[in-house]
Amino acid sequence: MSNMQLRKRILITGGAGFLGSHLCERLLNEGNDVLCVDNFFTGSKDNILHLLDNPHFELMRHDVTFPLYVEVDEIYNLACPASPIHYQFDPVQTTKTSVHGAINMLGLAKRVKAKIFQASTSEVYGDPLVHPQKEDYWGHVNPVGIRSCYDEGKRCAETLFFDYYRQHKLNIKVARIFNTYGPHMHPHDGRVVSNFIVQALQNQPITVYGQGQQSRSFCYVDDLIEGFVRLMGTSDDFTGPVNLGNPNEFTILELAEKVIALTGSRSQIEFKPLPSDDPLQRQPDISLAKEKLGWQPSIQLEAGLIKTIAYFDNLLKR
Ligand code: NAD
Ligand code: UDP
Ligand code: UDP
Repeated sequence: MSNMQLRKRILITGGAGFLGSHLCERLLNEGNDVLCVDNFFTGSKDNILHLLDNPHFELMRHDVTFPLYVEVDEIYNLACPASPIHYQFDPVQTTKTSVHGAINMLGLAKRVKAKIFQASTSEVYGDPLVHPQKEDYWGHVNPVGIRSCYDEGKRCAETLFFDYYRQHKLNIKVARIFNTYGPHMHPHDGRVVSNFIVQALQNQPITVYGQGQQSRSFCYVDDLIEGFVRLMGTSDDFTGPVNLGNPNEFTILELAEKVIALTGSRSQIEFKPLPSDDPLQRQPDISLAKEKLGWQPSIQLEAGLIKTIAYFDNLLKR
């Protein structure tokens, strides 16, 4: 068989973003043709600059809220701003991206019979009353708050995925991603790990919201991408949703202290108001991912932070 027949054509929406750019690289390295679709709302060409002269990589500026007609074998649907400051900038567009974007990508998958992956989120659990969160927990989500455009948009996208699965027999894979960090996050992304590292490297105050007693569980990007690829490779009868994240949980204050120690920064901690609807705690139960994907994270927070700090240090010196 020729190489041409073996190569898969894979569409990655949001491919110029933080996670998408790592996924583009991984799937190209595995010998696939990658089509990266992005409207560059939060993503950046810099993240994929090193892929542009690869003949198996294609870049298309396109907004997924509009229909897209291409021929592909697999779709990874990642398009959606992920940081609260960005998804709250134009909340109506955020919901459109999740909902209309899902409808268009599912319509595309249906027409070309492609397997389709959805980047869902731990936010579907809202401010959880069950801890750690398992996939069968239905969540505790405010439908009318400032985070709702993201949370409810992602919940509706999951509904659409499961209705296309039941109604049109699509091959779907839904991942619920927990807080992930690493190189290619935008320095002004607004999420906590990038904020703290950039602040520490510049000896600026570290902005801890509230008392910093809220917790998150942070996964390093390489571990997460491995989970994506394994989920896509599961048998057709496994749809998810499946939690992907690192179960080691830290308070935001602990994270701030770790970043200060690892950067040797002179930064002081500055307490700022806690944004409304900020979830108090979050930790994935990953037993399903362990069982179905044989997956668990291998890079712990300190090691991941060291790599991420090195990335930002380099970026800020440019
Ligand atoms: P990101 O903001 O870096 O990437 C999102 C990408 O989508 C950007 O390149 C952006 O320009 C693009 N995009 C946004 N709206 C678009 C539209 N309408 N049409 C085309 N492209 C559009 O965020 P990320 O961290 O890489 O997140 C990727 C996906 O993973 C998102 O769907 C996000 O909700 C999900 N997710 C991420 C995390 C995390 O911790 N990183 C956690 C849970 C879920
Ligand atoms: N769609 C797309 N690319 C395709 C096929 C469909 O973007 O290759 C979009 C199209 O805009 C459509 C949506 O996906 O409205 C849903 O498609 P589906 O076939 O499920 O529904 P319908 O065409 O009946 O609206
Ligand atoms: N956070 C913070 N300082 C910052 C940015 C975020 O204390 O500069 C807190 C935020 O209030 C939340 C946690 O860190 O409790 C994680 O925030 P992020 O925006 O990274 O992700 P999410 O809230 O979506 O999990």
